[in-house]
Amino acid sequence: MHFQFRKAASAEGPTKFHESLDVSDLIKGRKDIASVSPLAADLQLYAAGEDMVDVRGTLKAELNVACSRCLTPVSRAVDIDFKERFIHEQEPEQEEDMDDNAIYVVDESVDLVPYLEESFMLNLPFAVVCKDDCKGLCPACGTNLNEHECGCDTTAVDPRLAALKDFFK
Ligand SMILES: [Zn+2]
Ligand SMILES: [Zn+2]
Repeated sequence: MHFQFRKAASAEGPTKFHESLDVSDLIKGRKDIASVSPLAADLQLYAAGEDMVDVRGTLKAELNVACSRCLTPVSRAVDIDFKERFIHEQEPEQEEDMDDNAIYVVDESVDLVPYLEESFMLNLPFAVVCKDDCKGLCPACGTNLNEHECGCDTTAVDPRLAALKDFFK
């Protein structure tokens, strides 16, 4: 998934870039994500100067996630606006010369994969719920409370809260 810097930086119009990337290895550390579709990258490369290329577009994937309260599988779309500026030169030694929002590359052939992967990871949802008012699982018996009430007495005060109550006496 490479682009050639000189070619992209001297192109008249935007260079279109469509690829899909297998990101299943990236979600291995997330126990709540059961599976992910390939990440579809739909990008345009714009010449932004002699040594500058802007890459803009969208990254999309479908996740299969467990609801963080009741563990029901939920499908969730990831839809990312991708926008990066690549500059073809050595990273400046002086910090004030540096464009913090740009990526400095020295090779003629630039691999987009690490940047796409990073963006994907940063945009993964956390604590997904199947619905806003998901009642979750009964802490005593594990029943999915969205399906039926189990009748367990779960009014027992959390020991940490009990300690606080004493504290305020
Ligand atoms: Zn749920
Ligand atoms: Zn119960």
